[in-house]
Amino acid sequence: MTATTAGHYADRLNRELLDTQNELGRNDSARVETIAAPGDLSNVPQHNADADSEGLRVRIAEEQREREKLEAIEAALLRIESGQFGLCTACQTPIDEERLDAAPWAAKCASCAREDSWTRLR
Ligand SMILES: [Zn+2]
Repeated sequence: MTATTAGHYADRLNRELLDTQNELGRNDSARVETIAAPGDLSNVPQHNADADSEGLRVRIAEEQREREKLEAIEAALLRIESGQFGLCTACQTPIDEERLDAAPWAAKCASCAREDSWTRLR
């Protein structure tokens, strides 16, 4: 991989990093609202407690995915710095550029990642 190509992925990863950080920030404030805002609802029907806790579980699961993505992006940026970017972290063979275009934070080649749950989330 040339320095230009690596730089192109570094740009994309840095943008994804910011997006994901923003997403996590929004999730944090959304959850604070849910917990802090039950007052002044006198004309609103009683909340269904089960639905509320289900919504919270979904948000926590989403946040967990965002955090995993953030870690994957940070790890990919470190691999760019160390010159290891684009090589499978499991078998060291070059990862298909098609795969990197779809997910520049991919750490493994397609065959090593086949059983990886992270790829199923995409
Ligand atoms: Zn591999």
